[in-house]
Amino acid sequence: MRRYRFAPSPNGYLHLGHAYSALLNARMAAETGGECLLRIEDIDQGRARPEFEAAIDEDLAWLGLTWPKPVRRQSEHFALYRDAIAKLEAMGLVYPSFESRAEIAALVADKERDGTAWPRDPDGAPLYPGKRLDEITTQARIANGDAYALRLDMAAALKRTGPLTWDESGSGETGTIAADAARWGDVVLARKDMPTSYHVSVVVDDAEQNITDVVRGQDLFHATAIHRVLQTLLNLPAPRYHHHRLLRGDDDRKLAKSEHAKALRALRAEGVTPDEIRRIV
Ligand code: GLU
Repeated sequence: MRRYRFAPSPNGYLHLGHAYSALLNARMAAETGGECLLRIEDIDQGRARPEFEAAIDEDLAWLGLTWPKPVRRQSEHFALYRDAIAKLEAMGLVYPSFESRAEIAALVADKERDGTAWPRDPDGAPLYPGKRLDEITTQARIANGDAYALRLDMAAALKRTGPLTWDESGSGETGTIAADAARWGDVVLARKDMPTSYHVSVVVDDAEQNITDVVRGQDLFHATAIHRVLQTLLNLPAPRYHHHRLLRGDDDRKLAKSEHAKALRALRAEGVTPDEIRRIV
């Protein structure tokens, strides 16, 4: 059976873009005789709020969407994500980095002083300049209690995986897509303030929940290359991917452009009906 999932982060109220993604997942599951799960992606405990999670339930129920219970909450599975990172560490593919974002920006500015542009990742952030400290200094800083993030040594990881692809059926490029993870550089696997990252928890959970079809926004298209690397290293199955278009505001005549930025609950309060919203998919 095909299994889909809608995986919002309870960091704010759902808006029309979320509704589109949830409705599309539910429709594709229904059309293929599959099921669609809800997953609460609340690893960022500094930003996640119980009232946002309650609002997700309420807004999706208002749209007429239901989900098998219990709903998976990522904050209840940190140990599993830690295990996955430990496996990557045992392969020698992980190293600690101590710099703040500002310190990384300063390192990059230094590299660009001679006028050559330092490479940016698909989201526009400069690539991390790579492992910089020797083992003795690293261990001394850890012993000193300095906070650090864990990064994937991407070059070493890609040497191990070889070239990877994924199967895409979304609104942009489709077919077999060459996964170009090198362009992301040494991505963060665990943050200073969080024992995991979006990339690690999403691949672990898609496998744990036997997700066969990942349907999500085009903004995550390029990140799929990182997910394919992690799936391959961790020996997890590769789902099919469908990266859908992002709503831009001219999708539905009933809903004005300005309404696309509004929370679903604000639209509801203004008298917009679930049917009007369902029509965007
Ligand atoms: N939690 C992510 C978000 O709200 C979605 C991740 C995914 O679908 O892979 O943007």
